[in-house]
Amino acid sequence: MNTSAESSHALVQQCPVCDAPLRVESFRSGETVCSKCGHVIWYQKRMVDGAAIMDAISGIVAINTDIERVSKSLVAGPDKARVILNLSQLKFISSAFVAGMIALQKRIRAADGRLVLCEMHPIVRETLHGARLDTYFEICDTEKEALDSLS
Ligand SMILES: [Zn+2]
Repeated sequence: MNTSAESSHALVQQCPVCDAPLRVESFRSGETVCSKCGHVIWYQKRMVDGAAIMDAISGIVAINTDIERVSKSLVAGPDKARVILNLSQLKFISSAFVAGMIALQKRIRAADGRLVLCEMHPIVRETLHGARLDTYFEICDTEKEALDSLS
């Protein structure tokens, strides 16, 4: 499941869930849908030191069926899932997105894995704080701190 083909920092040109090739022109619009599995592309995936780093590129999609697909793909490997959600590209998050992150966290924890959030915009952090979720999630300031905490 975890191929090394996507370890570079180049724009990922495949679906982060099923690895099907994607057309890249509209990748950042938040409206790209994988024609194979139906996943709406809201993040790109990188593997760093055995941890899956999800770079959120859109805060619009986090519906239950999608979270189920995403979490399945993350916990599919033989190792316990170690997942970092990098939110640096999101300036705000919706309550639906927050609900999606909670669902993702639950599923990863159920598989004995860990999810760490990092690189949050102050407004995003405030949103989580206001919802009293900044203690529910593991949060690190930087991606490096997140990687260190998972190693
Ligand atoms: Zn797909």
